[in-house]
Amino acid sequence: MILTNVSAVKELLSRHGFKFAKPLGQNFLVNPSVCPRMARGLSGNIVEIGAGAGVLTRELANTAEKVIVVEIDETLGPVLAETLAGCDNVEIIWGDALKTDLRALIEEKFGGGEAAVCANLPYYAAARIITRMLEARPPISSVTVMVQEEVAQRITALPNSKQYGVLSVVSRFYGNPKLLFKVPRGSFIPIPNVDGAVIRLDVYRGKRPGVTDEKRFFRFVKAAFSERRKQLANPVSRALGTDKESVKRALGGCGINASARAQELSVDDFIRLYNKFENNQFTI
Ligand code: SAM
Repeated sequence: MILTNVSAVKELLSRHGFKFAKPLGQNFLVNPSVCPRMARGLSGNIVEIGAGAGVLTRELANTAEKVIVVEIDETLGPVLAETLAGCDNVEIIWGDALKTDLRALIEEKFGGGEAAVCANLPYYAAARIITRMLEARPPISSVTVMVQEEVAQRITALPNSKQYGVLSVVSRFYGNPKLLFKVPRGSFIPIPNVDGAVIRLDVYRGKRPGVTDEKRFFRFVKAAFSERRKQLANPVSRALGTDKESVKRALGGCGINASARAQELSVDDFIRLYNKFENNQFTI
């Protein structure tokens, strides 16, 4: 069965009594050019999040050694039993990607090997799934995901742009994000309210030098962006319980303008600034 044929997919879903759950971001891809472009160049071990009717899963199964797909909605079971019949290298894990220990899953299923992540993410949770996944540092080489266009812009944004924020810093801290292509909303059933885009993030190997405690570092970054219109010294001094002048001096010591706003700082600027305070044992 061709899973990009709208009437065939509708017939399949209704035959199994499946009803789309809007809160789960269930918009299934029916544009035939998208899955091959997402899967291009991916082989070996693959983790997918959200199988839907299996359109991307089947594409990935063609070139992968093994595909593990985490899907929250067990009512898709009978649909996937039909569409993935014969895909012996696919295993479905029923569960919530926001609660899954991806590191343990990859260890268990791929015996210590690396995996690539490829998914058409549910928009409601896309940013959270990506952040949680990167911060857990599972052995993943790349993340190729469809997200809503606005999230794709935030992930790939550079300093000094409107979209640059915590998600951009998280993404650039862990890897090199790129916008691959945009996907119009009409590529899905049902049609969502926003357009999508596919991003690819090649994940850096090993720990990023200069940050000993990543959790504290990201709390610091979040504090810095908490009042993005104000000078960075305001929210940072409040978060650290120190005075504004010390923060301004630290900024100067890092070669950053004392009146800078958070969106002007690159990841390396944040790391240098963080270390100025980290050495003083601040509490955040
Ligand atoms: N891959 C399919 C496609 O491209 O047509 C489906 C994509 S659809 C946008 C998102 C899928 O993620 C749905 O199947 C939905 O049930 C599933 N999903 C939603 N929230 C999830 C979560 N927290 N954990 C795992 N899967 C989830």
